Amino acid sequence: MRSKIVAGNWKMNLSQSEAKQLCKEVNNMNIGSGIEVYIFPPMLYVSDCKSSSTVVKVGAQNAYPKDSGAYTGEVSMWQLKEAGIDAVLIGHSERREYFNEDHTLLKQKLDAALFHGVKPFFCCGEPLEIRQDGSFLKYVKNQLEESVFHLSANDFEKVVLAYEPIWAIGTGQTASTEQAEEMHAAIRSWVEEKYGNTIAENTSILYGGSCNPGNAQALFACENVDGGLIGGASLKAADFSVLVAEETWTILN
Ligand code: PEP
Repeated sequence: MRSKIVAGNWKMNLSQSEAKQLCKEVNNMNIGSGIEVYIFPPMLYVSDCKSSSTVVKVGAQNAYPKDSGAYTGEVSMWQLKEAGIDAVLIGHSERREYFNEDHTLLKQKLDAALFHGVKPFFCCGEPLEIRQDGSFLKYVKNQLEESVFHLSANDFEKVVLAYEPIWAIGTGQTASTEQAEEMHAAIRSWVEEKYGNTIAENTSILYGGSCNPGNAQALFACENVDGGLIGGASLKAADFSVLVAEETWTILN
């Protein structure tokens, strides 16, 4: 059975005291049974959040594939592991766009995360022009083939996938349930082709892109949507608490 996951990507937001407070609030939320919750604070706060987290898992928004050395400004997967950090985001569209992260680097990051036992959340998703020209399935399949499908079945099983259409991230323009389900079902079918039915059925595929208390219930009820990677709504405890609550997951399911 695949895990149901709600993950909050705080991006480059919050002061130290705000992050501390939000971390506390998330750990005190009434989380539905069987739902795993992750937070991805800014790197500066990751260790503190980890130390004060009793319930939720804590990840980094980024890390470098080399273990150590002259890579000024970077933090390695090995260092994350050593500090007890649970997970890492890889392939977020903002990293691809603003930091020119390409398939090769993402592949190296994935390999390093798995080598060190840090759980990778691998993000994929198409820009608006690709959605509009109709080639979005091919585009996302290519992202997975270039950076993920080289993994052994044993490694792939540890990866969480997140489909995040770029046109929906931070725009308020959420994918419809039909659009999300079409892509999630396609992703699961590609995983099945590559790794077989059992692994495909056990792979958690999260939706990300303007997911909020108003649309989460319908999205999470889609057969192939196993939760959400949440940006904006993860910064507001009141909103995030709805996304992790039992009712959001049970009424429509
Ligand atoms: C994200 O950045 O991963 C994201 C989904 O952001 P938002 O929820 O704000 O669209």
